[in-house]
Formats: sequence, C-alpha cells, structure tokens
Amino acid sequence: MKYKRCLHCGAVNYYQDEVCRRCEGDIRLDKKRAISTSLAFLLSAIFFYIPANLFPILNTSKFAQTQGSTIIGGVIELWKEGDYPVAIIIFLASVLIPIIKFFVLFYLLYAVYKGSCESGKVKLYHIMEIMGPWSLIDVFVVMVLVGLIHFNSVSVIPGVGATSFALMVLFTILSAKALDPRLIGEECE
Ligand SMILES: [Zn+2]
Repeated sequence: MKYKRCLHCGAVNYYQDEVCRRCEGDIRLDKKRAISTSLAFLLSAIFFYIPANLFPILNTSKFAQTQGSTIIGGVIELWKEGDYPVAIIIFLASVLIPIIKFFVLFYLLYAVYKGSCESGKVKLYHIMEIMGPWSLIDVFVVMVLVGLIHFNSVSVIPGVGATSFALMVLFTILSAKALDPRLIGEECE
C-alpha cells in the first residue's frame, strides 16, 4: 500500500486520495504545475538579481551630498578599510548564496522533472530542508548593515537595488515553496 503526506496538516493519506482525510485540503500531486510555477518564480528571481547588483542598494547622505553604493562597491570599500569579516559576510550573503540557491533550485527542478531515482532522494530532501530556514539570511545581513550605518549619524535610504534584492529573495522563496517536496523521487518504488 502506498501513502502520501498532506502538505497542510501533515496527516498521512492513501496514495490515490485527492482530499486529506483530516483537514480536507487538496493533496493531489501535480508535477507539471509544480515544475512550471517553480521555474517561473526562479526565472523572476534571476531577473531581479541583475538590478539588485547593478543599482545602488543604499543611498547615503552626509552634508547634503548623496552617494549611492552597490553591493559589490560596498564590499570593495569595506575590504579597503580593513573590515575583512564584514566584507566577506556581505559578499557571501548577498552575492554568492543567491547564486548557489539558483543552482540548487535548478538541480531540484531537473531531478523532479526527470523523476530520477539515482540522484539520491535523501540528499535532495536534505538540500530542501537546509534551504528553508536559511533563505532569509541575506535580508537579515542587509538590515543589520543599514542599522550599523544609521548608528554613524548618516542618513541612509534604500536604493533601487534594495527593492530588487528583496524581490529576488521573495521569488526564490516562492520558487522553493512551489516545488512540492513530495515529488522528489516520486516515481521510485
Ligand atoms: Zn491535511
């Protein structure tokens, strides 16, 4: 007998059921819809990654002079000033981690699409689990950064880059959410 889990309440149901026996939620497995929705969100996230890095993430005003700084520009400046740990953390959180997330999502989408069993179901599940709680670390880092600069009595206004960055993070989360984890290794028996 085959079973499947309800994503709403966690109850275990018979595989052929379409409605959850406990919460009456929709428990159908729709591989096509999950893949296309997830892919659409992922491509949107990648699209916003470009302005997030090209445009100023922060506009700092000091003595009536406004200066915009991009993520990379900020990292380079911090590095020059000798703030190596901060520069490294910002680089990791806002440049490298988003790219790693894109690759992981593409890999997961491909694995679900192929329905391959050799790729290791357990490994994929672990990747999904790690991705979840850490998905907001980059936003957190940017928030702390803004807070730190505010401390130095300089006015800081988020730039176009910050909006794009937030949208990129949002679409990455939506892409991961749209990818039903039950579909991983679905066709393996
Ligand atoms: Zn349920």
